[in-house]
Amino acid sequence: MKDSSESGAVRHIDAFEFVRLGRSLEGSAPLARFVRLLDGLPEQDPSAVVRWSAQADRGPLGEPLIRLAVETVLTVQCQRCLGPLAMPIESEVALQLVETEAELDDPDTFDESDLEELDAGQDFEKVLGSRRFDLFEQVEDELILSVPYVPRHDVCPDGGDGPSGDAPEKKPSPFAVLAGLKGSAGDVGK
Ligand SMILES: [Zn+2]
Repeated sequence: MKDSSESGAVRHIDAFEFVRLGRSLEGSAPLARFVRLLDGLPEQDPSAVVRWSAQADRGPLGEPLIRLAVETVLTVQCQRCLGPLAMPIESEVALQLVETEAELDDPDTFDESDLEELDAGQDFEKVLGSRRFDLFEQVEDELILSVPYVPRHDVCPDGGDGPSGDAPEKKPSPFAVLAGLKGSAGDVGK
């Protein structure tokens, strides 16, 4: 844990310069600062930290790339028991820097099949590069894309007996019983 990097994390970089010089960069910030990401999520572990690394690279056709890796532990709501669920998130994305807004929407200027031959079909995420490129925002975007749609505990702490919580004394719900039956009846009717 490098505490110094939490407050001193570089947020803005000169994106094209970064790639030209082949640089790399690591940073971290408290999860609480990612307000866009946390919108709609349950209360987070106050000590949770987001870490990221950015590495300059080139695509097969010389495209300027920033390979971004992000990781954190996010608290999401289990869609079965509605309880909090700590979910480790690790994700990587290859950001392709473009110079104009128009290029963002442009279909690729090369043949997709060429790309596949060159680089096993790697997909780059086009972003607008600039001299004040907001790395923090890219990290947040990537995390947002990494939030699972229907997160669930492998085994819910309260037996997963539904959202109402109307059975405080751990009475097995009919569903749990049923699931148990299904699980142990592997040799029946197969
Ligand atoms: Zn659950």
